[in-house]
Amino acid sequence: MASNQALFERAQRVIPGGVNSPVRAFRAVGGTPRFIARAEGPYMWDAEGRQYIDYIGSWGPMILGHGHPAVLEAVHKAIADGFSFGAPTEREIELAEAIIALVPSIEQVRLVSSGTEAGMSALRLARGATGRNKIIKFEGCYHGHADALLVKAGSGLATFGHPTSAGVPADVVKHTLVLEYNNLAQLDEAFASQGGEIACVMIEPIAGNMNFVRASVPFVTRLRELCTQHGALLIFDEVMTGFRVALGGAQSVYAKLIPGFKPDMSVFGKVIGGGMPLAAFGGSRDVMSQLAPLGPVYQAGTLSGNPVATACGLATLKEVARPGFHEALASKTRSLVRGLEGAARDAGVALVGDSEGGMFGFFFADALPQNYGVVMATDKERFNRFFHGMLDRGVYLAPALYEAGFVSAAHSADDIAATIRAAGDALRG
Ligand SMILES: *Cc1c(COP(=O)(O)O)cnc(C)c1O
Repeated sequence: MASNQALFERAQRVIPGGVNSPVRAFRAVGGTPRFIARAEGPYMWDAEGRQYIDYIGSWGPMILGHGHPAVLEAVHKAIADGFSFGAPTEREIELAEAIIALVPSIEQVRLVSSGTEAGMSALRLARGATGRNKIIKFEGCYHGHADALLVKAGSGLATFGHPTSAGVPADVVKHTLVLEYNNLAQLDEAFASQGGEIACVMIEPIAGNMNFVRASVPFVTRLRELCTQHGALLIFDEVMTGFRVALGGAQSVYAKLIPGFKPDMSVFGKVIGGGMPLAAFGGSRDVMSQLAPLGPVYQAGTLSGNPVATACGLATLKEVARPGFHEALASKTRSLVRGLEGAARDAGVALVGDSEGGMFGFFFADALPQNYGVVMATDKERFNRFFHGMLDRGVYLAPALYEAGFVSAAHSADDIAATIRAAGDALRG
């Protein structure tokens, strides 16, 4: 049996950094990444045979836990019929119909293979549909790694951003305005000065890429008003929150608080693929009809709507849509967060958490942060020690303080209780 360390060394010889997505390398927390051999229900086992309670769930897709029998059966059946045809299938219609039935703002949807691809395509469509170039994003929100979105705030208020990655020309991000999350004044100022040129605003409504930060209700309300007033499209990036925080996604959570609220476009991924490469973007028929082959905005994909991925996604959505699914998931997730807070209180450590549906976050801080700057100023050293303390005790949390956590339907009350006990030990240790 190869050790995690031996595998990591071998991986680094042939794969940059030994991983195919940077966060997996444990750079933020230090130490050796666990090479996962297999997973079942809420558990994963690494190459050394060690068992973990999994609170990443492949970063969100595994909302039913690993290897759910109905999903396995659907995938096995689909595989036997062929992996990929490059031609339309009935299952793509079924998945599109399922998404549209669950998310009232969506009239048409196009399937793609990753959240990055969906976000990038939604952006192009918004620009094509409005005939405008400028876009607004918020610091700390991640929308995949399309060039125009790898950008951080410039020095002045409401100035255009700087690339956050080498290889992204400044010219490519010169149309991207980066604002502070939950900052109403900046939002007002940006629209006042350039509202007529803004194609779209893209936002993670409950941001999971800066741990767990909710857009405030006044912020979302104002965002909706300004977009409507200035003819910009409001794009909800629900790659993480879609079908995860509630059956209708974060937009359904805000629609309960803001009467009649709807985004213009939405981006999905993660849960809709159930662990297979599948994502989607959608909106009104009017906007979506600007896409090729109907309209002038080009977008395509060899594996888009893949028959095995759509089978996996459909089977997953079917389970998720059962009555009471999200209520049970939400109450379990809340009990985890309350338990972590209690364990911290007992250990005399400042910790606050929040959750919605099956997504959660916690901070070593006295109050919940409202933007990226405050998240990044929370106690990193304490987080990293806690992360490793939990990993040593068989609990697999996200390996960075700016990532959200995920609970699945397969996590039992015993798993949650064991996690809270481990947290108490880890915080005192
Ligand atoms: C994960 C994620 C993406 C990117 O999806 P990939 O499938 O990794 O390309 C985009 N937006 C949000 C909000 C995400 O959480």
